[in-house]
Amino acid sequence: MDLGIKGKRAVVCASSKGLGLGCAQALAAAGCDLVMNARGAEALEAAAETIRTAHGVSVETVAADITGDDGRAKVLAAAGQADILVNNAGGPPPGMWHDWDRADFIAALDANMLSPIAMIKALVPGMMDRGWGRVVNITSQSVKAPIPQLGLSNAARTGLTGYVAGTSRQVASAGVTINNLLPGIHATDRAEALDGPVAARDGISLEEARARRSATIPAGRYGSLEEFGAVCAFICSQHAGFMVGQNILLDGGATNATI
Ligand code: NAP
Repeated sequence: MDLGIKGKRAVVCASSKGLGLGCAQALAAAGCDLVMNARGAEALEAAAETIRTAHGVSVETVAADITGDDGRAKVLAAAGQADILVNNAGGPPPGMWHDWDRADFIAALDANMLSPIAMIKALVPGMMDRGWGRVVNITSQSVKAPIPQLGLSNAARTGLTGYVAGTSRQVASAGVTINNLLPGIHATDRAEALDGPVAARDGISLEEARARRSATIPAGRYGSLEEFGAVCAFICSQHAGFMVGQNILLDGGATNATI
């Protein structure tokens, strides 16, 4: 399917690895020029070069922390007249509800709520002026069904979701859509970081920890970056202009709910 976004300019935050990289690859495959970001320059450059070679699109890289004011300013300086924004950053650390103090909550809110909101506020006005834009926020299945040990994520991402619910309906008439993609477990470094402590605690291998978790998912496996990226690219496509303020679960059926 032609997604109709060849030549569009896409900013993909936190995209040297994992779900962000999946989105960058799929948008490049659809013909978008990219601004890619991550903190570590080496992996970022390697990912960018692979995409340039595979898809022949232009890829600018910005090695910076997207959760800080300085890092965001650098990404925004490279963004130019961005048509597409994919918001992403690392997830907050696990723990239990009584573990966190105010500083922990502020850090989580900065990373997973206020940073994407700042990017939206910076780039959506230009999209509205030009009459077309797409924003996809990578959040989590924890927005629909809280994950007990990820209380910081549950809280911060739900805050972003509330902001998007209101904002998306205020900008839609200008041709700009804002939607959220809610990953369940995907085969990324982040998944390994969550499985590692489980393996250590239960005295099992990483593979066994992964197999046990996979058995709890109706699809029987982890999601792939390619699947995730393809859905992101579709939401950014010409075909998805009537999709406004939605929360799309990509979790292999793990969230047991009728709607
Ligand atoms: P990942 O594999 O660990 O990749 C994270 C990517 O983001 C890397 O490129 C990393 O590069 C970059 N990054 C992290 N923090 C950054 C920052 N502050 N500024 C700029 N770049 C940053 O993670 P993932 O699995 O793709 O997860 C992406 C998001 O989805 C996270 O918020 C995660 O919590 C959420 N999520 C993931 C899953 C899953 O199963 N994978 C499920 C639910 C939710 P650098 O380290 O070099 O910066």
